[in-house]
Amino acid sequence: MVSAELNANQEVRVYSEAQQLATAQNVLDTHVTSSATGRCLACGVLGPCFRRETAMAVYSVKRWLPRRIPGLSQPERIGARRVDLAKAALRVGRMRLRGGPHA
Ligand SMILES: [Zn+2]
Repeated sequence: MVSAELNANQEVRVYSEAQQLATAQNVLDTHVTSSATGRCLACGVLGPCFRRETAMAVYSVKRWLPRRIPGLSQPERIGARRVDLAKAALRVGRMRLRGGPHA
């Protein structure tokens, strides 16, 4: 599917599906809602901003999921830290072997 927009000079610009998704992904990568303030890191409004919502709608229509870059929302500002899933699984396994609290 292609989309088109009319610019100020009344020229029609046609976007291919790949261009639409690339543009939407670019918006999603820059218009990120901060974990700490709840505001868009690009426009400063309480997020998610309309640009992000529009980009999400593009993906929704295509039934695709956007690429997600971990850490863009700056979770470290609220004290969140990344969990190593492999290490966490090993820890749970060891607790079960020892008859830990959830055995
Ligand atoms: Zn924004």
